[in-house]
Amino acid sequence: MEADETQREPDGLPGRQPAAIILFGPPGSGKGTQAKLLKTVLGIPHISTGDMLRERIASGDELGLRVKDIMQAGRLVPDEVVNQLVADRIAEPDCQRGFILDGYPRTLPQAAELDRLLGERGYRDLVIHLKVDYTKVIARIAGRRVCPVCGTLYSLTSNPPRQPDVCDRDGARLVVRDDDRESVIRERLEAYERLTRPLLDYYAGKGGLLFEVDGSDGTPEEIFDRIRGLLRLK
Ligand code: ADP
Repeated sequence: MEADETQREPDGLPGRQPAAIILFGPPGSGKGTQAKLLKTVLGIPHISTGDMLRERIASGDELGLRVKDIMQAGRLVPDEVVNQLVADRIAEPDCQRGFILDGYPRTLPQAAELDRLLGERGYRDLVIHLKVDYTKVIARIAGRRVCPVCGTLYSLTSNPPRQPDVCDRDGARLVVRDDDRESVIRERLEAYERLTRPLLDYYAGKGGLLFEVDGSDGTPEEIFDRIRGLLRLK
């Protein structure tokens, strides 16, 4: 039955507790793309703090107004804001069987808060680190286009739209994300180096599952095959 299919325990993931799969890597490493592919295979929600924040900006609510300038400048939103968003989201019923985190945690206080939440709710964590070199990342981000209507991501080099700057799905004119401009990309990479990369030592020190995946070479599908292999997914 279809409902059983989406609710089953992910194949091959060791252990019996539901998993919080953390996709880790610098901006432009392909976390969002891999998270979407994992979601299709595992049938568990994809939680992207970046997408959640952009939705709040688009809605123009108080939180959106508070984070807009910070995000446009390529800086990190305060920990308590994202911690609350994630805590609320993972309390929803569709997360009971596990979920995929994309872009969270990004600082040590966020990781500590996530540990607390996962412990309280009985999840184990599993980290997938997408390793990429910065020259690739900068080129990838600079070539990134997004549909403002349906959110589909395109890459001018690896996944271009059929017609230049037009969404294949709905014909809307594609845009560059505000924080994908080159001056801002540097700021985002700097924030990653200073605040986020140290989390790798934190997770290595915890002795849990930490997988390293080459995210530089190959198509998104080839990179996904590596993840599948590591997680022993069918
Ligand atoms: P990328 O990984 O390509 O930088 P995201 O969509 O994950 O893109 O993040 C975009 C922006 O959203 C970040 O630069 C930051 O301003 C904000 N953001 C997303 N997740 C977090 C987080 N966990 N903590 C703080 N800020 C965040």
